[in-house]
Amino acid sequence: MGDKQTTTVTDRDRRRILGLMIAGGAVGGVSSLPVAAQDGAAGNEIRNSLLWAVAYKQTAAEFYALCHQAYNLARMRIDLALAEHASGDRPLAVITDMDNTILHALSYWGHLINEGMDFFDDATWDEWLPNNLITSVPGSNDFFNYCEEQGVEVFYVTSRNQGERTFEYALAHLKHLDFPFAREENLFVFRETSDKSPARQKIEESFEVALTLGDNLNDYRRDYYVRDVDERRALMERDRDDWGTRFILIPNPTDGHWVRAIFGESEPAPTDDNRRILKDAATRVAWNGAE
Ligand SMILES: [Mg+2]
Repeated sequence: MGDKQTTTVTDRDRRRILGLMIAGGAVGGVSSLPVAAQDGAAGNEIRNSLLWAVAYKQTAAEFYALCHQAYNLARMRIDLALAEHASGDRPLAVITDMDNTILHALSYWGHLINEGMDFFDDATWDEWLPNNLITSVPGSNDFFNYCEEQGVEVFYVTSRNQGERTFEYALAHLKHLDFPFAREENLFVFRETSDKSPARQKIEESFEVALTLGDNLNDYRRDYYVRDVDERRALMERDRDDWGTRFILIPNPTDGHWVRAIFGESEPAPTDDNRRILKDAATRVAWNGAE
């Protein structure tokens, strides 16, 4: 992802060593680990706080149905835009995010869990990404091919930073998955910022943007880029009529700026303080067990 790396080598080494100790029987099991190690979740793959979200991504037919639902709706909106489009109008275009919108990174998340990690790890992401292990989000290829058939231009806008070769890797992903318009002119890569609005402004100079697709509010409007959970939600509600009409959203329970709203940063460090913050977020509303 675009934000700076937060995991230290020491953290990773500590997790690997503990994982090896458990695998080799050097410790009797989770219950015999020192309290500090349990709190740290190090090497503790079966108590990893990412498991539910990643299992949902890896297995739930409902997750894939939501992807199809999004792309089916996108097609309906394009048909409407085409029907309303007059010959003198600017040509129609679609803007789409890449990660978690048109491509999935399932083996990255599976690898993190096998490594005993319970937070997004930027170093692992940068190592994993050039291997083209991505898969298409269900419905995405059909939709973008339909756009091409109908004369609707597709622009890919992503915020990624894998150094000098970032653009090359992103373009390779589009080509690897056989997406149409997989060429330099249709790809915008922001390495130093998650602000995608300059791409939108540039595209709108020549095109009428019929639809924007993403998995993160920031993919649609920069003013969603706020850190407060309630403020973010209120901004989304302000634009409630845009969801499913101008904006098409793919669900993503593992990462994005919803994480930033909880922790204050998109890629929080794997610390017990942050695990407590996650627990507080998950118990924001909680029954007291008595009434
Ligand atoms: Mg994304």
